Amino acid sequence: MKVFYLTPQRTPEGTYPQFIEPVEIPDPDRLPIEALRPADVWVLDLTHPAWATSVLRNLRTFTDPEVYLRPLFGFPKDADFPDFWATLLDGSTDLGALPALTAQAEKIMDRIRRLEPLQEEHFEIQVLIRLLRYLYTRDQRLQPIRDPSRSTGYTYPFLVLHFQPTDEHRIFDIVDLGEREGLLQGRFVDRFHLCPDCYSAFLNFRETCPACSSADLKREDLVHHFVCAHVAPESDFLQGDELICPKCHRQLRHIGVDYDRPSVLYTCRTCGHEFQNPMVRARCFQCGAQHLVENLIEKVAKEYDITSKGRNAALSGFTLTLGSLFHIEGVVDYATFKTFLRHEIERVRRSQRPSTLAYFEFTNFEELYLSIGDRRTRVFEEIARVIRENIRGSDVLSYLNERTLLFLYPETPVEGAQVALQRITQFIHQLVRDNFQNFQPLLKTNAIPIDPQGTVESHLEQLFKT
Ligand SMILES: [Zn+2]
Ligand SMILES: [Zn+2]
Ligand SMILES: [Zn+2]
Repeated sequence: MKVFYLTPQRTPEGTYPQFIEPVEIPDPDRLPIEALRPADVWVLDLTHPAWATSVLRNLRTFTDPEVYLRPLFGFPKDADFPDFWATLLDGSTDLGALPALTAQAEKIMDRIRRLEPLQEEHFEIQVLIRLLRYLYTRDQRLQPIRDPSRSTGYTYPFLVLHFQPTDEHRIFDIVDLGEREGLLQGRFVDRFHLCPDCYSAFLNFRETCPACSSADLKREDLVHHFVCAHVAPESDFLQGDELICPKCHRQLRHIGVDYDRPSVLYTCRTCGHEFQNPMVRARCFQCGAQHLVENLIEKVAKEYDITSKGRNAALSGFTLTLGSLFHIEGVVDYATFKTFLRHEIERVRRSQRPSTLAYFEFTNFEELYLSIGDRRTRVFEEIARVIRENIRGSDVLSYLNERTLLFLYPETPVEGAQVALQRITQFIHQLVRDNFQNFQPLLKTNAIPIDPQGTVESHLEQLFKT
């Protein structure tokens, strides 16, 4: 196993074991990727933290999975390295203990080799898949960490590297999406609040005046004198160190016996308003805006395990699929569909009756899914309904990939299948036009007759050629 030692400055020969080759990286923002690739494992010099964190950021956000997923360890083991960044390493090593490190690296590399190449995806999906792949190759749980240098307070280091500082809160959209789709399984860690204007967690909670929102309040106990039933602020009773009732002029000695303190009276020093129930408002340290607590964004920090569905998504690169969104009964997998198709070609050869093979592709459905928020379930159920209504029990439905449905219409001429497909696409266009003016669905369909002389492969080729 080839191990490279990444360092800002090469030190004299003989400092490292034979099989560790030092590679000098003077500028962390200009990584010599081609020179780094021949190694299976990288060990990062942690003695210059600013340099090391920049290298770490650039490696872990690199596009190529061969780079961002590569085993990466820190040296020396006892380096003073911030937690946020340490979570992005696969561990630390003192260079004497390489065998343990190589065993761990071997596991990660084995998993990297199983990943399918990734397609071009929507940004959120891309980041989600990168996360799933990172967790999968490490067999790791995603932990939120508390970091006062991040505006959201709680953060996920691997995710947050992919966002600009003003967009850091979007990491929570990514994990929410993963959990909603059953790719991640979350467990409660803590609840926290973000400013609705700037998403900062740096908030100052305090009691304020219900009338004018001022935080400049005088807080005073109310005193209730049992004998004469007089209730007034404590200051009305105070004479020197003693409590004397302003109404009956008797002295109050024992709380619970002579008197009690039933509640608190607030007086606003700004507007003079007196009240018993102040309102808790939070002032954002970041942008200065003040909000009632119930108007803050409440978030739950969770730790996440990757599910078996998530592992499949990590391997295949597919997260959202029309299949999982539409929940249509009786859908067969692609291999089974090809078997149906082969039988159908034979049947047409014998019976001479027309049959049709067709597909429907919703090229940008992920974009629609991600942009419509809470209405997505209803919208996708509507689309599923219209697809169901336009297939008969004898029709066969399958998925070619995450955005393409395949249809086999036995005993149906091409014109009949086209009518059904047209109804589906018209419905989607109408639905989107009525609800989401800024979205243009990209839909493609094609239908071809089953050719009694053709093969399964020749049909599929013909179908997608036009
Ligand atoms: Zn009294
Ligand atoms: Zn006031
Ligand atoms: Zn703010």
